Amino acid sequence: MKLLFLCGSFMLATLAAPIAARAQSTSPVDAVNQAVGAIGGADALRAMKSLTFKADAQFWEPQQSYVADGEPRLIGNSKITFTWKNDNDTSRTDWERKFEYPFVEEKKYSEIVTSKYGAVSAGSSEVPMSNIRFASYRRELERALPNLLLKALDAPATVSSLSNQTLDGKSLPSVAFSDGNFKFAILFDPSTKLPAAVRSFDDDWVYGDMIYDLVFADWRSVDGIKFAYSQTYKVNDIKVGHLDVKDFKVNPTIPADTFAIRDENQREAKMPASVPYQWVIRRLFLGRFLDSDAVNFPASAAGLKLIELSPNVQFATGGSHNSLIILRKDHLVIIDAPINEWQSRWTIDAAKAKYPGKPVKYLVLTHHHNDHTGGARTYVAEGASIVVAAPNKKHFETVFQLQHKLVPDELQKSRKPANIIEFSDHMTLKDESGDIELYKIANPHADGMLMAHLVSDNIVWVTDLYSPVRDKDRTEMFVSFYEALKQRHIAPARIAGGHGGVVPISEMEAVMAAQ
Ligand SMILES: [Zn+2]
Repeated sequence: MKLLFLCGSFMLATLAAPIAARAQSTSPVDAVNQAVGAIGGADALRAMKSLTFKADAQFWEPQQSYVADGEPRLIGNSKITFTWKNDNDTSRTDWERKFEYPFVEEKKYSEIVTSKYGAVSAGSSEVPMSNIRFASYRRELERALPNLLLKALDAPATVSSLSNQTLDGKSLPSVAFSDGNFKFAILFDPSTKLPAAVRSFDDDWVYGDMIYDLVFADWRSVDGIKFAYSQTYKVNDIKVGHLDVKDFKVNPTIPADTFAIRDENQREAKMPASVPYQWVIRRLFLGRFLDSDAVNFPASAAGLKLIELSPNVQFATGGSHNSLIILRKDHLVIIDAPINEWQSRWTIDAAKAKYPGKPVKYLVLTHHHNDHTGGARTYVAEGASIVVAAPNKKHFETVFQLQHKLVPDELQKSRKPANIIEFSDHMTLKDESGDIELYKIANPHADGMLMAHLVSDNIVWVTDLYSPVRDKDRTEMFVSFYEALKQRHIAPARIAGGHGGVVPISEMEAVMAAQ
């Protein structure tokens, strides 16, 4: 009996094994097919010629946190109205945004995008999108719409096998989907067969190689199509956006002028060879995107330039973010490394051309935010020591060790250890050409924020707390910087900023006196 029982078990096991193996090795196309079925079927998706939904949305930015690697900064709340029609893959996103960061303000604008071009309208203005914005919008549209699965189903050659992907600690069956420039991993919920997330592998100038997910939940059936009423965007599993969807409608009546773009803005966009997707997407979330294919400066500008503040001090400006170059007896000091490697390379090359034979010995970083440090790795590759206020050393140790294999930067190509100097309250960079005093500032913008005082030229460098020329309001940030000057008994002749320009201290005194 016992033997028979064992034989029986063995028989069951051998019969069961091929079935289990088959279930585990669902072909990529079958997985897509199952997901199409779960969402409502190919016929229902094909019959969907248009859709609309509304959403309440929130966005966060982890690289604008108060404490480096701390809680992501809440940017604010938005109301979204989205309309799409399959004719020419045309869509419109209307935004009503209430920002809490970096400034309390409201913005209303619309993005209207066809398969060929896109425009942004606000009030009576309408401008064509930059190519990088157009490409990013197109990619994110494809990621978010249910007919992504239909595209995959109709072109099986675009679908290939992929190892299980991990989401929220769960290992999920996944397929790779490639549509020209756009490459995604589609992760499936094994119980419902619905897509759990659509993932891309992106380059970020701080995080390096990273994962970007749109995670779906709260699926509801509307007119025979299931639609995710909860849509969450994640960067390396950190939430950066969340949409609470309302009023999803299939084949709604759409007003005739919904997708109108002025004739002069109907310029065919060119898909760039490489798109800094994470910069575009998250600067748009932040409401501070410079809509320019030059990335670092407006399309209308000639480029970056040096403005001489004194024979030893050059202001690197011309774009959205500035740096300062200071000549010492036998080396250079540079303050802030904005945006990306391109800007660092430009700044280092310009500094060396202006002051030949002087190596960049120190890069001083005012604070950890990505838009002023995204180019810091280039300085490590250059051999410069990095100077930061506490507690930022730990953050930058990690940043300089991260892998950038997707878009290799100079440090990835030539890896070397970073020398990071951290001070707690005050530090002097001594030199016979004059001292540079660095002071940590108590402020509401970022922990470990510093200002720099070039003593012999009596120039103070400040980033974000006050943007000279641009800022006219006595904000909390403005006051924190003003009080830091008073507390340290500094009366600078001029103030130069990480944004904006250079002003005499009388500008700040006028703001303090006016309100
Ligand atoms: Zn900042």
